[in-house]
Amino acid sequence: MENDNQQNQLVPILESKPVGVEEKEREGVFVNGFICQNCGLHFNLFSWKANRHRSENTYCPECGVKGSFIHYRKVLSSKRVRDDNSNDEIFRQVPLEGSQLMPDSIVISK
Ligand SMILES: [Zn+2]
Repeated sequence: MENDNQQNQLVPILESKPVGVEEKEREGVFVNGFICQNCGLHFNLFSWKANRHRSENTYCPECGVKGSFIHYRKVLSSKRVRDDNSNDEIFRQVPLEGSQLMPDSIVISK
């Protein structure tokens, strides 16, 4: 039964389309790695835009401080359209394998 539930949850994730960045604006798939110089948190932030997320416009999800980061970026894909068969798409990276869906999730019906 639990497996059935997990399968049902995967379907909407695979069908979800980019929100915020229209497909024509997409520049590829990028992962920004940040290390907060205030609290030391390491976190990854995925984007379809190469330069949207910078030290000066990013807030640390742990301490809330903006701007004091060591910033890395990796290009996962330079494809300007989503490739459902590629492991480099963001929906393949998030959630991490083995993650549990949390009860505070907010699903907006369209
Ligand atoms: Zn921090």
